[in-house]
Amino acid sequence: MWLALPFAWFWVCQQQRRILRDGRSLSDEERRDATAAGVVLPERIRLMVVAIVPTPGASLLRGLAAVTRFPLSPPAGMALGHGIYLDERVSDSRSTFVHECVHVAQYERLGGIRPFLRQYLEECLRESYWDSAMEAEANAVSARVCQRDC
Ligand SMILES: [Zn+2]
Repeated sequence: MWLALPFAWFWVCQQQRRILRDGRSLSDEERRDATAAGVVLPERIRLMVVAIVPTPGASLLRGLAAVTRFPLSPPAGMALGHGIYLDERVSDSRSTFVHECVHVAQYERLGGIRPFLRQYLEECLRESYWDSAMEAEANAVSARVCQRDC
C-alpha cells in the first residue's frame, strides 16, 4: 500500500498546480466560510468547478477501494492542497464547499501534501474511509458552519 504514496503525492501536486493556475479565487462570503472552517490562508485557495472530479489512476483507486472501502464513484468535491475541485452538480452546495475547506485546513495544519496524504491514507486503512477521523472532522465542522447562519 505504501508504494502508492509517492504516486498519490505526485498526482495531488499535479492537480493542485492545475487548479491554482486555472481556478478562480474565493468570493468574500466563501472566504469567510473558509476561515470558519479553519483555513489560515483562504486567499490562497482556488476553486475549479468540473463536470467530473478527476481521480487518480484506476489501479491505485481499486487498491484503495479494496482495503478501505473508499468510494469508487467520482467524489462531489476534492481538496488538493489549496486547490478545490467541485462537481458542477454540487457547485452551489455550501456544505460540500465547507467540507473541502476543512481538508484544506488539514493540509495547512499537517504541513503540506505529503504529511496530509500519509495520515489520510493511514486513517483510511485503519478505520475505513467512512470512519476516518479526518473525514469525521470535515463533516462535523461543515455541519456546524452551515448550521450557524444558513
Ligand atoms: Zn472529505
